[in-house]
Amino acid sequence: MRLNGKSALITGAASGIGRASALVFAAEGAKVVAVDLNESDGEQTVSEIRAQGGEAIFVRADVSKAEDCAKMIARAEEAFGRLNILFNNAGVLLSGDDDAIGTEEAVWDRTMAINLKSVYLGCKHGIPALRRAGGGSIINTASFVAMMGAATPQVAYTASKGGVVSLTRELAVVHAKENIRVNAICPGPLRTELLMKILDTEEKRRRRLIHIPMGRFGEPREVAGAALFLASDDSSFITGSALMVDGGITAAYVTPL
Ligand code: NAD
Repeated sequence: MRLNGKSALITGAASGIGRASALVFAAEGAKVVAVDLNESDGEQTVSEIRAQGGEAIFVRADVSKAEDCAKMIARAEEAFGRLNILFNNAGVLLSGDDDAIGTEEAVWDRTMAINLKSVYLGCKHGIPALRRAGGGSIINTASFVAMMGAATPQVAYTASKGGVVSLTRELAVVHAKENIRVNAICPGPLRTELLMKILDTEEKRRRRLIHIPMGRFGEPREVAGAALFLASDDSSFITGSALMVDGGITAAYVTPL
C-alpha cells in the first residue's frame, strides 16, 4: 500500500475529486480526514471508507475561514497523531462569474476566498503540522484554465486557479529543504457536479467536448490517481509542478470535430 502509516487531510471530500481521493487514499492505507462544508455528504464519504475497511473522520469546515482551517489541522493531529499529506482541493465555480465587466465584486471576492485564500490558509496552518511530522506532501487543486484562456468567460475562477499554481510554485521553493513537497494538479473538464450544473444541456456539453482530444469528460477517480502519485513517495523528487490531468486539452491547438 502506497500511503501506509500516513495521515491525509482532504478538503472538498464530500464530492467529486475530494471524495474519490479520500476513497483511494484510504484504500492505499492512509488515515483520512475528510473536510467539507457539506456535513451529510462528508459523513457519507467517511462511511464508504469505513465500509471498505479504512480509517477516517469527518471535519466540517469552511476553508475560506482562518479559524476553520486551524481547527481542521488540529483535529487531524488529534485524531491520528500527525499530518503527512494536505490536499487543498475544495473549490467553487459560481454562477455570475463572467467577463470583467459582468462579474460582480461579490462573486470575485467569494471565488478568491474559497479557491485561493483557502490554499494559503490550509498551508498557513498545515505546514507547521507537516514540519512536526518531519515533512510531507501538499497537493493543491488548480485547473487547466490556469494555463490557457477559456472562450467562455469565468474571470474570477480562472484568476483564482492561476493564483493556486503560482502559490504552489513559491511554497515548493520555500519549503523544499524541509522535506515538504508542494504540487498542483490541473484537471481538465470532469463529469462532476461542479461542471455539469453549468454544462446543463447536450449542446453545451458537446461544445466543450470538441476541445478535449480524448473526446470525453474526465472522471474524479482519474484525478484521484494523480493525487495519489503526488501524495506518495513515488513522486519524491517532484515539487513545484503543475500536473495536467486534462485528456490532452492544454496540448491541443485545434481538435477536429
Ligand atoms: P465538487 O463540486 O464535486 O466538489 C467540491 C466540494 O467542495 C464540495 O463537496 C463542496 O461542498 C466543497 N466546498 C465548496 N466550498 C467549500 C468551502 N468553503 N469549504 C469547504 N468545502 C467547500 O467539485 P469537483 O469537481 O470535485 O472540484 C474539486 C476541485 O477541482 C475544485 O477546486 C475545482 O475548482 C477543481 N476543478 C474541477 C474541474 C471540473 O471539471 N469538475 C476542473 C478543474 C478543476
